Amino acid sequence: MADADVEALLVGPGADLRYLTGYHALPLERLTLLVARRDGRHVLLTPRLERARAEEAGLPGDVEIVDVDETADPFALAARALDGVGADPRLGVGDRLWSTFLLGLQEVVPDAAWIRASTVTRELRMRKLPEEVDALRRAGAAIDRVHEQVAGLLRPGRTEAEVGGDIADLILAEGHSEVNFVIVASGPNGASPHHETGARTLAHGDAVVVDIGGTLDGYCSDCTRNYVVGAAPSGYADAHDALEAAQRAACEAVRPGVPAEAVDRAARDVLDAAGYGEAFIHRTGHGIGLEEHEEPYIVAGNDLPLDAGMTFSIEPGIYLPGRFGLRIEDIVVCTDDGVERLNTLDRSAVRT
Ligand code: ZN
Ligand code: ZN
Ligand code: ZN
Repeated sequence: MADADVEALLVGPGADLRYLTGYHALPLERLTLLVARRDGRHVLLTPRLERARAEEAGLPGDVEIVDVDETADPFALAARALDGVGADPRLGVGDRLWSTFLLGLQEVVPDAAWIRASTVTRELRMRKLPEEVDALRRAGAAIDRVHEQVAGLLRPGRTEAEVGGDIADLILAEGHSEVNFVIVASGPNGASPHHETGARTLAHGDAVVVDIGGTLDGYCSDCTRNYVVGAAPSGYADAHDALEAAQRAACEAVRPGVPAEAVDRAARDVLDAAGYGEAFIHRTGHGIGLEEHEEPYIVAGNDLPLDAGMTFSIEPGIYLPGRFGLRIEDIVVCTDDGVERLNTLDRSAVRT
């Protein structure tokens, strides 16, 4: 905070609050707000009825809980929590704090300059501690165990939604506490990267993209593999070979000091050379941790040097409208001298 010249961070429910305090607050219409001050006089404003949950979270000892009664003005209490930070303070407001709360805060601290709290928290959250990497490793192993059971669920006559329901059950059965998303994109639906799992019935000859993730011990999993029901559509094997090579090249490009965009470039070069450049319509990856998508983004234009402890996805795809889609996704961690994959399943397309 001193580096960023910020007097206080004002953080509501979400990943930053969990990172800083361990408290998984509910995103309510009532204000929950951590006022983390550079001078160490931290306050957590909590709706009175939420105090028990905040206490159960085992907050750091230097955070004082202040109850917000149903009839109290939460913004007046926030202003009081900022007493003594000086005139015209620079305040970091949580990137996910709802605008209704920011507008209320701006009324009671009219002379403040506002910046994003992520100016401070991104530097902390991007480089994972060993225990965070361990949690991501456990989440990765759990989603791998789910994928090992997916082929058995993909039978002609079943709908994407039926398969998706079974996968959601498996995500929980394999140790996640939450299902974050289930994408089952069959046949031509695979050409839409975030296809909404729906009513389409699986048929012989379908390619199926399965991209799934959940939360385990607070940290997210995210893994994509490709399946074929019966015989693969024409052109499928060539495309999958090119994609596997692209995904491998991107993984091999990861080491400390390499710009994030170079990893994207490594995947794109392979697909360009194989004639699939136009069909790779999204960035190569996203950071992952307490959130499914966070920094660093593995995308052209991001010259951020990778650093040990950064965790992100490597997920190039090929999308051929009207025909099929393909994506291979692993979560990786940048190590001191290279890369470790947190998803270790075989990457070739699985035939069912
Ligand atoms: Zn995605
Ligand atoms: Zn992803
Ligand atoms: Zn994914």
